[in-house]
Amino acid sequence: MAKTETCPTCNGSGTVTCPVCKGSGEVNVRSFFNPEWKTCPQCGGARKIACGTCGGTGRILVK
Ligand SMILES: [Zn+2]
Ligand SMILES: [Zn+2]
Repeated sequence: MAKTETCPTCNGSGTVTCPVCKGSGEVNVRSFFNPEWKTCPQCGGARKIACGTCGGTGRILVK
């Protein structure tokens, strides 16, 4: 019988801190002349992305 459990990766929130910008919402694009901060392409500046473990639902199926 299938049951669900709170996702251990996101603790049930359905989102995790973006690994690309590490939660800042911006990434530093290094150039030869000066560093440039751009909106993170992974999360679009939202700082969080949908949890890959539970697919954003916050719950996982357990057997
Ligand atoms: Zn990001
Ligand atoms: Zn999750």
